[in-house]
Amino acid sequence: MAEKDPLEGAAFAEKRRRLMRELEQDARDTAFWTGRKRFSDGTMAAMAAVPRHEFVRERDEVVAYVNRPQSIGHGQTISQPYIVALMTDMLDLDGTEKVLEIGTGSGYQAAVLSLVSARVHTIEIVEPLGLAAQKKLKQLGYDNVHVRIGDGYKGWPEEAPFDAIMVTAAPEEIPQELVRQLRPGGRMIVPIGRAHDRQTLTLVVKFLDGKVTVESVLPVAFVPMVKDKEKKE
Ligand code: SAH
Repeated sequence: MAEKDPLEGAAFAEKRRRLMRELEQDARDTAFWTGRKRFSDGTMAAMAAVPRHEFVRERDEVVAYVNRPQSIGHGQTISQPYIVALMTDMLDLDGTEKVLEIGTGSGYQAAVLSLVSARVHTIEIVEPLGLAAQKKLKQLGYDNVHVRIGDGYKGWPEEAPFDAIMVTAAPEEIPQELVRQLRPGGRMIVPIGRAHDRQTLTLVVKFLDGKVTVESVLPVAFVPMVKDKEKKE
């Protein structure tokens, strides 16, 4: 999509380039936990390509490329760019995969995923957020992203199995239905922990023989993954 104003577009591009250098530094600084000193070329290219300012509220555009989470309304947040990059990278995608995301939010993470996989299915429980994200993704041409309004704990059985799953809200425990919908050989990244507390970014790997391993990656802070009955509008 064309920028409203080319100068504004250039200013955002410059901020995005600066952010890319911060992401490289953050990757080095957290290598002790994550086991990776740098993110893949695919992850970095996707982070460099997606216009994050399009996914924040208009008044927050100026801070869109600050390496911090931003509010997107309805008590929800778009994750910090470093966390978006890290979670994307941990899935080790090669561009051929079908990916499930839980917690569409603004649609930003789905847009990043769409550039490193073949197809993204993303589920959002707060209807106005999901509908706004769907519209934005369409407007920006992310045609391989499919948005559904619903409860992420149920996954998307009609489209399962998925080669990779990313959960961007924090459940207290690993949602077993999502593990079931993960293809053998697939990876799932999910923050696990209690609401309003620190959580642990967790990597779940399902091996070809069906065996599942769970590995802690990094302490993080996410909004809770709500059960359908406690959903707020
Ligand atoms: N990935 C988003 C940020 C996610 S914030 C982005 O890039 O902007 C977490 C999102 O998860 C919120 O929008 C919240 O409404 C949603 N969420 C919380 N519980 C959920 C559930 N059970 N199913 C689906 N979405 C859920």
